[in-house]
Amino acid sequence: MTTESESCLFCKIAAKKIPSTIVHEDDELVGFRDISPQAPSHVLFIPKKHISAVTAMESTDAELVGKLIAAAGRFAREGNLGDFRLVVNNGPGAGQSVFHIHVHMMAGRPFAWPPG
Ligand code: 5GP
Ligand code: ZN
Repeated sequence: MTTESESCLFCKIAAKKIPSTIVHEDDELVGFRDISPQAPSHVLFIPKKHISAVTAMESTDAELVGKLIAAAGRFAREGNLGDFRLVVNNGPGAGQSVFHIHVHMMAGRPFAWPPG
């Protein structure tokens, strides 16, 4: 791990140094249940590579970050979760509290638009 990722909660979850309920894992990604679910099904999809936020993405990260969306969609489809909401918060003002890029997948309840 790099110096930055040593102090990163989600890097520790990806490395299984902190326990979580992992629902998806492959070479590049991990999906795990949110500790404070905001919907009946609430899963976070992260890259194993530490990227702090959307605004910290390199152009070479685009395919990797796209895989988060694909994995979230596949998880919802295969689990027959119905319609779902994907959220990526960028920056504290938008609700980002963990600075390792992640896609929230929430399903199992109605979702209003616009979000709060
Ligand atoms: P953000 O607010 O950065 O968009 O989302 C961070 C999410 O991580 C929150 O929904 C929060 O509940 C979740 N979270 C924070 N700490 C932990 C943890 O230790 N384990 C798990 N599974 N989720 C966490
Ligand atoms: Zn990290």
